[in-house]
Amino acid sequence: MNDLELKDNPTFRDFQEYVKRLELQRGFANQNAIEKCLLLGEEMGELFKAIRKATKLKTDINANIGSINEEIADMVIYLCSIANRFEIDIEQTFREKEEINKKRKWI
Ligand SMILES: [Mg+2]
Repeated sequence: MNDLELKDNPTFRDFQEYVKRLELQRGFANQNAIEKCLLLGEEMGELFKAIRKATKLKTDINANIGSINEEIADMVIYLCSIANRFEIDIEQTFREKEEINKKRKWI
């Protein structure tokens, strides 16, 4: 049975809950934060490769390169999974960090 469903107009909390269920269902729930960080790094490489291809930079024509959309989605999944391991509410922490960032001076 596949009961994974992301509700319409999801909040970040909904994404994080979805990823929690996804990991249980697919057998990834026991991977620790370090393993998730390595996977996030791999996905970042895949995103950069997709961007290289989209912007017509030289790329290996034999490489299996996903779309930018797909690789961004993969990164969101891993960011959620890492946040979940530290019980971090991404929306809340985003708001708090942006309040800090707004006070920064850019020259
Ligand atoms: Mg990927």
